[in-house]
Amino acid sequence: MSAANKLFTWKKPYELKKTDTLFLQAMQENVRHHYENSPDYARILDEKGFHPDDLREYDDLRKIPFIPTLYFKRHTMFSVPEKRLLIKATSSGTSGRRSLIGFNGSSLYRGLRMVLSLCKYHRLISLKPVHYIILGYEPARSNPSAITKTTFGQTLFAPALSRDYALKYTKEGYKLDLEDLKQKLIRFSQSKYPVRMTGFPAYTYFLLKQMKEEGICVKLPKGSLMSLGGGWKQFYAEKITKQDFYELAEEVLGIDDQYTVEFFSAVEHPVLYVDCRCHHFHVPVYSRIIIRDVDSLEPVPAGQVGLINLLTPMVDSVPLASVMTDDLGILHDEKCPCGVDSPWLEILGRVGIKDIVTCAAGAQEMLSAKER
Ligand SMILES: [Zn+2]
Repeated sequence: MSAANKLFTWKKPYELKKTDTLFLQAMQENVRHHYENSPDYARILDEKGFHPDDLREYDDLRKIPFIPTLYFKRHTMFSVPEKRLLIKATSSGTSGRRSLIGFNGSSLYRGLRMVLSLCKYHRLISLKPVHYIILGYEPARSNPSAITKTTFGQTLFAPALSRDYALKYTKEGYKLDLEDLKQKLIRFSQSKYPVRMTGFPAYTYFLLKQMKEEGICVKLPKGSLMSLGGGWKQFYAEKITKQDFYELAEEVLGIDDQYTVEFFSAVEHPVLYVDCRCHHFHVPVYSRIIIRDVDSLEPVPAGQVGLINLLTPMVDSVPLASVMTDDLGILHDEKCPCGVDSPWLEILGRVGIKDIVTCAAGAQEMLSAKER
């Protein structure tokens, strides 16, 4: 079995120290594979004077030349023949430049094992049927965005009695319909089956705020969950803290913040991060994170702000071994009350690059259009 497959089938998803050697081996395999199969990647490594043989020990991981996520928005790089890609996903569902990433069989297998292991750990898998309220896009052939696929994927962890979407697909394109979701939430609060809400925080917040203003407060059945994914970036302008958000959810839907789960992932780094009960994104065994100084790009110690560099050997089809985001973050190594001892990532947001339009920003645009 390859080291990568061993890593992605590791039983306990947060045993970081125990998997350091395995992680290094998987990265050695991965970097070598991309070097030998992607001429673009080989050229980048050659230009930086790095050869896969230079990756000897764990501390060498920081030397792997990282590729900026912006690069994937402008170039398509595959390390396997395109016909072997089973799924293609893009980074943005609405507007802006998109990264096109493809997954072959081995990459998908690892992703699936990772998702199952994490969802089992965080007790997200249930056999009890639920009603899904999805604050996101209804799947459609014309929408290849990864967020739509992962949001739909989340509705598979418990049997679905129903799926209702905020953005309904019509002949004229996507239409925002929150009124229908409010009625459904009122109805489901009387049901004996739990509700699972999932989707963009922006839409979820907007819906909760409207319900509060209209005096609609319900108590969703026991076992109801709210999961959030797709970024908080749009909240910087609104100055909404996560705490305010959780309090609003409790007031309007009766969902305690222990039942609010946040996900974080990126097309260019498809590792899933799930927050713990203290709402921290602990680093799972499948990845390692290096925070780098904004100017020198040298690694900084835990607790200091810098650019987030994400490493994973998950994907064989695209050279995603080490990617550099344009987000600032902090890696914390202080003890977390949840008991997980792997460090956790605090995402502070985007460095002031104006021309980046994310799907979250797209969501904000659609909301403003609706308000006008
Ligand atoms: Zn924790």
